[in-house]
Amino acid sequence: MLDNEMVGLVLVSTEGINGTVAGTEEVISQFKEFLIEVADSDIHFKDSVSELQPFKRATVDIRSEIVGMKRPDLVPESPENQHLTPTEWNEVIESGEPYLLIDTRNDYETKIGKFKGAIDPGLKSFGEWGDYLRNSEIPKDTHVLIYCTGGIRCEKAILEMQEQGFEKVNQLKDGILGYLAEYPEGYWEGECFVFDDRVAVDANLAPTSTYGICPCCGLVGSNKVVCNVCNQEFFTCDSFGWKGVCSKTCKDWRDKHPL
Ligand SMILES: [Zn+2]
Ligand SMILES: [Zn+2]
Repeated sequence: MLDNEMVGLVLVSTEGINGTVAGTEEVISQFKEFLIEVADSDIHFKDSVSELQPFKRATVDIRSEIVGMKRPDLVPESPENQHLTPTEWNEVIESGEPYLLIDTRNDYETKIGKFKGAIDPGLKSFGEWGDYLRNSEIPKDTHVLIYCTGGIRCEKAILEMQEQGFEKVNQLKDGILGYLAEYPEGYWEGECFVFDDRVAVDANLAPTSTYGICPCCGLVGSNKVVCNVCNQEFFTCDSFGWKGVCSKTCKDWRDKHPL
């Protein structure tokens, strides 16, 4: 990466701006100054350090929704909506009062980690959230705690719940990543899927050494194997059918040079 380069993905919509970018400290602080200048409300930044360049390119995408729920009409009215800080989150868990914990992320994310005791709604995409709630038979007066990776998805998930009449919902401020920054040894179990080349981070927010993207399906895999053509280590899913090769290129080579 060049010194003055910034890469990552930024989403722009009438709902707001959300994104993850990577660059040198100087470039990132210039970008923050720029955003503060053009925004007419507070911007919330979350910083983390990575030795690896986690993105391949810089993309700015204009979308009808920041979080795709197929409900562009649901827009947060205020930045404050029943948020709990990580400390308040722990207080509820330790209070002895009844509560229900629901993970609002997709099923391939919950597979590698979630909060202790959390319900996995098994979502293939966030568009299924409304139907999941309608079919869930969760009593409307249940104290429900919801969370997601960085807290953005929950800003809409909570609106859907409130619209359906759930009376007492809290969302985790800054999501799992915010929680782990404060409580790496708290109530989180496993690793947290992230949407860049790190694939996942552990409870100390360090890039995973347990998971990687499977070349056959693009999903998270945990079987570490060595390619029998190029000798690179890579991860596969459980139903990997590529006869020990890591890529299309190596597969083509193997097809032409059978063992
Ligand atoms: Zn696969
Ligand atoms: Zn290979």
